[in-house]
Amino acid sequence: MAYKYIDNYREQGARKKLVEILKKKGIADERVLNVIGMVPRHFFFDETFWNQAYKDIAFPIGAGQTISQPYTVAYQTELLHIKTGDKVLEIGTGCGYQTCILLKLGAKVYTIERQEKLYERTKQVLPFMGYKPNFFLGDGSKGIPEHAPYNKIIVTAGAPIIPDTLLTQLVIGGILVIPVGDEKSQKMVTVLKTGEYDYEEHVLDTFRFVPLVGDKAW
Ligand code: SAH
Repeated sequence: MAYKYIDNYREQGARKKLVEILKKKGIADERVLNVIGMVPRHFFFDETFWNQAYKDIAFPIGAGQTISQPYTVAYQTELLHIKTGDKVLEIGTGCGYQTCILLKLGAKVYTIERQEKLYERTKQVLPFMGYKPNFFLGDGSKGIPEHAPYNKIIVTAGAPIIPDTLLTQLVIGGILVIPVGDEKSQKMVTVLKTGEYDYEEHVLDTFRFVPLVGDKAW
């Protein structure tokens, strides 16, 4: 594998086009579009596949792993309404592309991955690219109670249910974004915590994520 961290005009141009595609598909939040236009997604690809990096598709990037589709990343990020300084828990670090988007929006990110190889690799690569979240290895379906509460929680794997432990770890006014369904398809769900035990839930579009595996999951 040949990974290079160089951002050429060609890649910058392709990234601008991706932003236009996402706009056409309905992503409207200018701040989200702006950071998609800034984070070099090709850094996550072997150089041979740089021509694939700014297509709006998920892509296998080695180690049996897939980088999420840009539209999905933009969609979930938009729903989080990130404000500078927000403390965000991300469940499912994967390669860390979504993590970079959250950091670029000014969030303080706590990200957890259950697969050790991915955790080790992303923990090494992201700081090298200039992105510094707090990395954790373990089952994120239980959240990370030691660092709670969070302003926002994002789950980037498909869950069978909404784990209550995650709701407990949100501040009042906080938002959880989680895909919920079976193995084949999930609906994006947002939960706004309106009081200590009060929640407002919205069920949105259909997606297909890899399964959230763990104690409060599959
Ligand atoms: N956010 C990534 C995509 C992640 S794919 C991106 O930007 O491209 C989903 C990830 O969730 C996988 O890496 C998977 O190993 C991880 N995962 C699944 N169940 C988990 C759990 N219970 N806790 C933490 N990570 C989990």
